[in-house]
Amino acid sequence: MSDDVYQDARARVERIAKEAEVAPEVIDALMQPKAVLTADIPVRMDDGSTEHFVAYRCRYNDALGPTKGGIRFHPGVSLEEVKALALWMTIKCAVVGIPYGGGKGGVIVDPKQLSRLELERLSRGYMRAMADFVGPDTDIPAPDVYTNARIMGWMADEYETIHRRKSPAVITGKPIPHGGSLGRDEATGRGAFIVIQEYAQRRDIDPKETTVAVQGLGNAGYHVARLLQKEGYKIVAVSDSKGGIHSEDGFDVESLYQHKQDTRKLEGVYCEGSVCEMIESKSISNEELLELDVDLLIPAALEGVINEGNAKNIRAKVIAEVANGPIEGNADQILLDAGVEVLPDVLTNAGGVTVSYFEWVQNRQGYPWSLEKVRERLEDELSTAFADMWKIYEEKNVPLRAAAYTSALERIGEAIELQGTQAWFSDGK
Ligand code: GLU
Repeated sequence: MSDDVYQDARARVERIAKEAEVAPEVIDALMQPKAVLTADIPVRMDDGSTEHFVAYRCRYNDALGPTKGGIRFHPGVSLEEVKALALWMTIKCAVVGIPYGGGKGGVIVDPKQLSRLELERLSRGYMRAMADFVGPDTDIPAPDVYTNARIMGWMADEYETIHRRKSPAVITGKPIPHGGSLGRDEATGRGAFIVIQEYAQRRDIDPKETTVAVQGLGNAGYHVARLLQKEGYKIVAVSDSKGGIHSEDGFDVESLYQHKQDTRKLEGVYCEGSVCEMIESKSISNEELLELDVDLLIPAALEGVINEGNAKNIRAKVIAEVANGPIEGNADQILLDAGVEVLPDVLTNAGGVTVSYFEWVQNRQGYPWSLEKVRERLEDELSTAFADMWKIYEEKNVPLRAAAYTSALERIGEAIELQGTQAWFSDGK
């Protein structure tokens, strides 16, 4: 993970915005966050000692609405990373046309080292620190890497305790009985599946002839792999943070995932009910997985895994970015020159925030939707956003990432320009 991930994110926005002739006021507005809060969270550990954790929340830009974005619990979190992720959320929400700006949060912690009670105290401590910084009309957090529905539930409860009223719309990705939305857990993976299918239709890709490697079998990676396999795609490699497995014959994703949930190990297995048998597969590293000769590569873990160092070794024809920022800016051109097409993160993984938006709407109306309605509306939003991107791609002959960014920058730009630009004030236009 590069230290200057934020610098890289800004440079990409600036480059694409200049090429798309976005007004200077708009570019300036996106070059720094609106507000950042850094907090110390003291947590009473189970042995009676107190540990201190560093926490961040960033509201990046709210031209289109309250800021929105997840909270990450990971040892690699930094303020720079949170700002980069918040900038990407700003672009992402605008790509799908939902009425949000971008935000993000994080805590420097390895949650796997905490007991359940310590994790609850940390989660509640985070919300106590942020309770005046977030809110249903200002900034709405959600899950991200190593945070989940239960953590969102604790945070919502803490916020409601502080504010002495029910306020489910303060956070999304909650457990269903606490006001969560049906379909939110699968939404990032399902959204990626929808985007890949839209792409496959336009490029005449036959799922049955398409091999796939997935880096990261977390929530998003699991659901996209599961849905692709159901459609006929062959999932030939998967990995988790410890390493990966490869089999030319393909894996049954459900079996791998169930076995991993039960044993905490990613192994080549085929399961019928609770009985799993080992199947032939080869162990590979995460780096090797990225360089496999497959049709579709899905990085679904962390940022920066494809960079100047390994971009020239990528043999996949298409990369669908399910993680946030898995390709560094300086690898864009290398991949482009090699003819590797990239489905950009700001659209490919936008299913999560889109269903978060549906959750917020349901909370504010006090009217829960059926799973069918959530899935239908998700498909509508993402296929429309895909069509908007594709139109710019065809008209301007730019890569898909530039097309998606241009679509977002036009929307953010319009909101900022309607406040008045230098050209407007000086010309009286
Ligand atoms: N953390 C997810 C993302 O990066 C979801 C954010 C949200 O639902 O607000 O898109």
